[in-house]
Amino acid sequence: MRSNPARDRIRAELDESHRFEALLSDLSARFSSIPADAVDGEILEAQRRVCECLQLDSSLLWQWTDQPSARLALTHMHRPHGGPPAPAQHDVAAVYPWSYARMLDGLPYVNSTLDDLPPEAARDKATFEYYGVKSNVGLPLVVGSDAPVGALTFHTVREHRVWTGAIVARLQLVAQIFANALARKRADAQARMRLRQLMRANRASTMGEFATALAHELNQPLGAILRNAEAAEVMLRQTAPDLEELRAIVADIKRDDQRAGSVIDRLRTLLRHRSIELRTERLPEVVADVLRFAFADAAARGIRVASELPADMPAVRCDRIAVQQVLLNLVLNGLDAIGNASTGDPRVVIRAHAARDGQIEVSVSDSGEGIAPEALACVFEPYFTTKEAGMGMGLVIARTLVEAHGGRLWAEGRCGAGGASFCFTLPLAPPGGSGT
Ligand code: ADP
Repeated sequence: MRSNPARDRIRAELDESHRFEALLSDLSARFSSIPADAVDGEILEAQRRVCECLQLDSSLLWQWTDQPSARLALTHMHRPHGGPPAPAQHDVAAVYPWSYARMLDGLPYVNSTLDDLPPEAARDKATFEYYGVKSNVGLPLVVGSDAPVGALTFHTVREHRVWTGAIVARLQLVAQIFANALARKRADAQARMRLRQLMRANRASTMGEFATALAHELNQPLGAILRNAEAAEVMLRQTAPDLEELRAIVADIKRDDQRAGSVIDRLRTLLRHRSIELRTERLPEVVADVLRFAFADAAARGIRVASELPADMPAVRCDRIAVQQVLLNLVLNGLDAIGNASTGDPRVVIRAHAARDGQIEVSVSDSGEGIAPEALACVFEPYFTTKEAGMGMGLVIARTLVEAHGGRLWAEGRCGAGGASFCFTLPLAPPGGSGT
């Protein structure tokens, strides 16, 4: 068959159109299931694939920031052929005033040659020429009816490209996929930040209340102990100390010491009764937040944090934030116990199973140094710590919070048998229980 340039061109365009169609459906399937922390990598990969499929030379993704000095920041760039450096932060409004205004208004631009630009885009044209752009498309990134969150651009620098309506429509779908993924990532980051703030506030307020009350109540017996000890010292310097009086002083010291101990007990009881809000919760969701929160810390130390929960886990009745505080404390302790040890598979695993008496048993196990049998009895004592910057209050508070649910928290040393396990029980939600 004789070659016919017009027919060949149409065939090539159809070919490209089919390949792009297939790429689009692959991208929309991929992006619908990726986790938030994989979004950036997937966008870069998708930019590369789109450029290769349509023989484009570069693709840039910009996002609006809160900083007035750099309102659009370049966050994702595929530009394999290089070119003048593209600053990550520059005043886009000054160098692309016309394109910038269109993006703000949610309007795309399509230039098959730079001569397609209107006269008022002279400044933009000069910038495009500086970067060697021959043709380009700019698409606002929009989610729902909200204001645009950024812009996605595609360029050619080697030759001009005629952008058909069909291609531009599909590129708009790519922009839509990216915009949705970025919105999800942002929502995820906000949720994490809220959780972190909540955890911090909760921990700080519990610790704060506890510490203030403790300091206040302990001042009196500790002061009395000191005064009695000083009096005893003075008496012991005498040649014939009054033994009867000394005996009385020692008895006072013992009594004050017992008072100090009972203050701590009373405060623990008080803490136990601080208001907690019991709701019906799904444990996998409660655990997922904790894993997300601990993930970065664990990854930085090369430790795996994971959960192994049965698929048919019944709902529990608990205060979500309190249980997350307990879990987080146990997971962070597990990470500390492993430290930077490069054992075969350093890991902290949260497990759960239905126990007796309408309870669920949750455990947090680590592959750390374990707890020596003689230390097992001490770890729940106030101020017991083996860490340089430790406070020794984490487990006291965790146990108090678990007991406030009517549960128990205990440790299993497994010293020498691969780490420690901390287990606690929570009540099952009554069958058919509502969310509150
Ligand atoms: P802190 O973390 O401030 O020391 P905690 O009350 O949370 O306070 O823990 C008290 C002590 O219990 C720790 O210092 C550590 O010695 C011991 N401990 C807690 N968790 C573990 C664990 N997973 N493995 C080994 N020891 C642990």
